[in-house]
Amino acid sequence: MAQKKYWRCKVCGDIHYGVNPPKECPTCHADEAYEEISSAEAKKLLKL
Ligand SMILES: [Zn+2]
Repeated sequence: MAQKKYWRCKVCGDIHYGVNPPKECPTCHADEAYEEISSAEAKKLLKL
């Protein structure tokens, strides 16, 4: 089973949770701008 991870767009900071990052950012439309971040970092960014 593939594990879901957190991804962040390097351009606009959009957070995506899934097995793979989106090819194109739905917010700023940058191509392949997502980088993997830790769940701790994602929670901090999302203020959970
Ligand atoms: Zn973006």
